[in-house]
Amino acid sequence: MTLADAAMSSPMLIGALIDDCCSVIDANVERLDSLDAAIGDGDHGTNMRRGAAAVLAEREAIANLPVGEALGAAGRAAVMSIGGAAGPLYGTLLIELGKQFPAEPKRADVARAVSDAVDAVARRGRSEAGCKTLLDVLCPLRDAMLDGTPLAAIARDASRWAEATKNMRALRGRASFLGARSVGHVDPGAASASLLVATICRRLRDPFR
Ligand code: ADP
Ligand code: MG
Repeated sequence: MTLADAAMSSPMLIGALIDDCCSVIDANVERLDSLDAAIGDGDHGTNMRRGAAAVLAEREAIANLPVGEALGAAGRAAVMSIGGAAGPLYGTLLIELGKQFPAEPKRADVARAVSDAVDAVARRGRSEAGCKTLLDVLCPLRDAMLDGTPLAAIARDASRWAEATKNMRALRGRASFLGARSVGHVDPGAASASLLVATICRRLRDPFR
């Protein structure tokens, strides 16, 4: 077992991931709210901050669970606190990931777990890539994981995936009510997903940072 493997399964790494994700959401609440104000109801950053606070409140208990159970616990906290459309979708992602997460994480098994979890989010949202939602980040993430793309490249690409929603017309969620007027704005859910994906990939590459 390498040092990195040891860190991967440690409460320290789960705690660090929770801290990283909460910090990036806290630092971007206003930006996410204003993206949502343009094509929705202006609360996505506030919703995500509530989710981050709920997970942070359970930090010690979650960090001491095996990874799969930790993901499930974080997912349940997210569902109960984020609310809106995004809560059940982020909750589904984490809970499904937790159910499948391998006890000894190997890249191919983690990729399969991510792929199945993203498919579950797509079913839950009756949505897919191209609808201008968080799936426009999660679907490229799934494909990159299955392709064996390095985490560093995924961390770099995630913001580009979110940016690409700017030229899309929303087909799901509140923004779809705007029809063609939704074009020209980045989707708030895609923006939060890209921030979280990039943050998580950076930490997993360098657990002792
Ligand atoms: P609400 O729209 O209820 O106010 P949020 O503002 O927290 O909830 O979240 C909005 C985000 O949720 C959107 O930007 C989009 O990414 C995502 N979303 C909404 N509906 C769907 C759906 N059916 N499938 C996938 N993602 C969706
Ligand atoms: Mg909203």
